[in-house]
Amino acid sequence: MLNTAVLVLNRNFQPVHVTSVRRALCLLYQGAAKAIDAQYRLYEFADWAALSAANHDSIGTVGRRIRVPRVLVLSAYEYLPRGRVRFSRLNIYARDADTCQYCGSLFSRADLNLDHVVPRSQGGKTSWENVVCSCIPCNLRKGGRTPEEAGIRLLRKPVRPRWTPFFRGAAKRVRYREWLPFLNLADASYWNVELLDE
Ligand SMILES: [Zn+2]
Repeated sequence: MLNTAVLVLNRNFQPVHVTSVRRALCLLYQGAAKAIDAQYRLYEFADWAALSAANHDSIGTVGRRIRVPRVLVLSAYEYLPRGRVRFSRLNIYARDADTCQYCGSLFSRADLNLDHVVPRSQGGKTSWENVVCSCIPCNLRKGGRTPEEAGIRLLRKPVRPRWTPFFRGAAKRVRYREWLPFLNLADASYWNVELLDE
């Protein structure tokens, strides 16, 4: 139980990290984070420890049981695990969920290209906002043109992701129902992962 996962949110309630219950309780005890219950109430350690542990995951401490928090909000910026998402091929594939952003089909990474929405020859930048995953047939159809010029539609406007690659990988492995209100990522495939109840 001490090694099961806890979702960590930053002060803006964005998910930034997944940590262990052991570490989560340390953060809570040190005042670095607050726990959230199902009604979105925030608790400091003493108040959280006073909650009933009946019908909840819990751990035993001296003389009593403490409810296991599944979501924490950080109180201090210095605990943020990392900053910006690196602009890399891997992270672009992850953002676009291995889906061609023109035809919407899912491909293996070997069958996807990166495409400049506005071609470099027309001044398009190599940036989160102008590079998307594309399958090879769509890439050839589009050629060195904008989607408008080629008569094909871009499924969604590319943006810099707000998640961190670490968070995303960890969140795919184990998730709890308590996490769902905070995992508002714009990625349909993300929601189709089977939920695990422990
Ligand atoms: Zn395509």
